[in-house]
Formats: sequence, C-alpha cells, structure tokens
Amino acid sequence: MNRRSILKGALGGVVGLTLPPFARDAFAQASAQASPAIVPVSDGFVMLTGAGGNILLRTASAGQVLVDGGAAASTDAVLKRLRELPGAGRVTTLFNTHWHQDQVGGNLAFGRSEATIIAHEKTRARLATDYYLQDEDRYEKALPAAAHPTVTFFTGDQTLAGDERIEYGHLLEAHTDGDIYVFFRDANVLAAGDAISPLKDPTLDWFGGGWLGGRVDAQEKLLKLSNAQTRIVPSYGPIVGRAELQAEFDMTRVLFDRMLDLLRKGMSAQDMLDAGLMKDLSRTFRDPFRFTYDAHKGYWAHHNSLAPDVL
Ligand SMILES: [Zn+2]
Repeated sequence: MNRRSILKGALGGVVGLTLPPFARDAFAQASAQASPAIVPVSDGFVMLTGAGGNILLRTASAGQVLVDGGAAASTDAVLKRLRELPGAGRVTTLFNTHWHQDQVGGNLAFGRSEATIIAHEKTRARLATDYYLQDEDRYEKALPAAAHPTVTFFTGDQTLAGDERIEYGHLLEAHTDGDIYVFFRDANVLAAGDAISPLKDPTLDWFGGGWLGGRVDAQEKLLKLSNAQTRIVPSYGPIVGRAELQAEFDMTRVLFDRMLDLLRKGMSAQDMLDAGLMKDLSRTFRDPFRFTYDAHKGYWAHHNSLAPDVL
C-alpha cells in the first residue's frame, strides 16, 4: 500500500463516519455548558459549583438571593439551574464578593432582569472601566452598564433590611481591593469569597490591591462573625466550618510574620522559600513560588506602615 492509498483510506474512513442519533445527542450535550452541581448548605441554602467560582444561593419563593453569579461562559447553565429551584429563577439580589471574572460573569443577565447588585464601591469602579491585568499583560473590558453593581459602599458593615437579616461588609485588601463578606445571620451561613481558600493555594491579586496583611485581618474578622455552627462558603473548594477557618487564619498569620521578618533581611521571594518560609505549615502549597511572589509583591505598597527599617 503506497502513501496515496493510505491517505485515501483514512479520508474514506472519516467521510464514512456517521453517528447514530443517540451518540450525536450525547456529543451535543457534552459540548454544551455543564450543569452546575447543587451542594446542600443548610435549610433554604445551596451552593452551586462548576460554574466558575462557587455560587451561594438562598432559595425562597419570594425571590432568590445569590452571592456571586459564576463565570460568563456558565451563565445559561446557571439560569437553567436557578429555574429548577424554589424561587424559579427570580433573582431579587446578587452580591459580588469581588470583581474577578469567575464571580461577576452573571452580572449582565441578572442586572438586565433587574436584580439589585450589591458590591464594594471598588468593585463597581473596576467593572465600569477597562482595567489592566498585570499577569496577562492585557486590558479586561468594562462590563455594560446593566452589569454594574447598583448598591455600593466604601467602609464598614451594612445590613440589608428584609424578612431575614443579611449583613455584609468590607474585607480590606484580603484578595483584591474590593472584597466583601455576606453573612446570613439568622441562618448562620457566611459567604467569604476569595478571602479564604480551603482547597486551592490562597491567591493574592497584588496588582489588584490584595496583600497578606489584609488577608490576616479579613480572616480574623470572619472568625469574629462565626461560631462553631457557621457554614462558611468560599469562592473555591468545599464548605467549611469555624475550625477550618481558624486553621487557615493561624497559617496566614504565621506566613505574614515570617515574611515580614525575611523582608527586613532584604530577601526576594526565592530567598524566602530557601530560608524556610513554608516550613512546618499546616498545609502544603501546589505552587509555593507563585504564592510567595504575589505575597512579596503585596508588601511593597505597605512598606511605609510596616517598620522604618524596611527599605
Ligand atoms: Zn478572585
């Protein structure tokens, strides 16, 4: 058999390939958006996963409340899931825990359907203009006006009046410059966004205003809000309790203290790792350099407030 006949045979095989109808359906379904999985949280609350960042949903016939809306590519699948749950997809309120794309991708759809979108003012400002992504060396486009948060705040803690108290407030520089928590106090369910990271390596968007000192303070604040029964929902990974939050806080504080010490010795991120920055921590990091590099960068904006001998 020469080369030409092999090619002909191969082509013939492709042209002759026809899928039975059931196989075509299976193929079409696999290439459509995967449906977000439903994870029980507590009475009247579920978490949707697999749509970018985690989505916390309060289901209620009077209207659904969401904390984060997932990535834009998953919006249709999220809307379909919401229609299947109590409240039938009528979303009255959407919180943005911060401005990353995995959290705000649903803003346009929910904004158009006239949900109130609540966020930190820095999140609104970020989404209303093109902003530079240092990591990827490109600009992320501003979202259309309908996708912008409609209720924003700068500092402190807020309460949303209603049949159930919903408290929310600023987590200053925990991961970006616009992080918030959302606490359903009556149900004892706390959405922490990316200020905690029980599964993945913690991420600090240093170019977007996050730093390790902010993360320590934020986790301490979350500890004060919670008790042993609180269900805590992160942007990524499983629902955790106060014990896991405490463990993460302890680790973050150790890292903060060690890093400050090593920074005073003039060390780079790699120097810090070589000097044992991560030694005997309660967990291991998949990419220790990436975390250390970002955390190290984050200190630079705070040198003047750390100590006079840090140059
Ligand atoms: Zn994020």
